[in-house]
Amino acid sequence: MKTYHTIQELEATGIVAAGITSRRGGVSRAPYTSLNLAEHVGDDADAVATNREIFFQQSGLTDLYYCQQIHSDRVIDADCTANETLKQHPEADALISTQRGVPLGIFTADCVPIFILDIATPAIGIAHAGWRGTLARIAVNTLARMQNRFGTLVTNCQIHLGPSIQKCCYTVSTELLEQFTGHFGSTVRDGTNLSLQTANVNQLIEIGLPVASISVSPFCTACRTDLFYSHRAESGRTGRMLSFIQLNTKN
Ligand SMILES: [Zn+2]
Repeated sequence: MKTYHTIQELEATGIVAAGITSRRGGVSRAPYTSLNLAEHVGDDADAVATNREIFFQQSGLTDLYYCQQIHSDRVIDADCTANETLKQHPEADALISTQRGVPLGIFTADCVPIFILDIATPAIGIAHAGWRGTLARIAVNTLARMQNRFGTLVTNCQIHLGPSIQKCCYTVSTELLEQFTGHFGSTVRDGTNLSLQTANVNQLIEIGLPVASISVSPFCTACRTDLFYSHRAESGRTGRMLSFIQLNTKN
């Protein structure tokens, strides 16, 4: 069984491997059934280790850099962070790099995984955007860091928003809705529901990203708990998918 979905919009460039795992094809038991890849959610550590082996074997990745996610706007530049530090998973919600063969990953179960590819440099970034990270503009912050460090231009970027909870299932408080419409416009709102995807797309368009360069997964994690983990649909007791991106070693 294939354990991950390829992000075709990014892989079509020929310069990256990018994907997101599904919840299928692993060994974890309920409520983590079955390919939980995160260590911090209460799942059996041996099961997580086995799941990671299954994923690594299938994807051909040999390593993975990821952070301890804290719903912040903090970005780690993997190029100038010591290997020992990276191995300890520093607190942050995004990673960037220009190194080939270095996979960057983030874990989600409803939050929006944001994949960034700067085709010209080339450089990559990946960010974790729940409602806090979206309000903190983690996507914009990640791009600003790439611009600052690598000279990335937004007009050279392709961005993908992966499977995440969509407005069909994301009812939030009036206070939060008002905060979001204040920051990102009325299009983020649908009745009492919020579109985190639209809030992220709007903030990217605002900094000059061409609409045509942004793609959004059609999957809602809360609608599709057969395929994905959903923190909300499963009352907080569930596993995490891994989103990953890596610059190919040759192109
Ligand atoms: Zn839904």
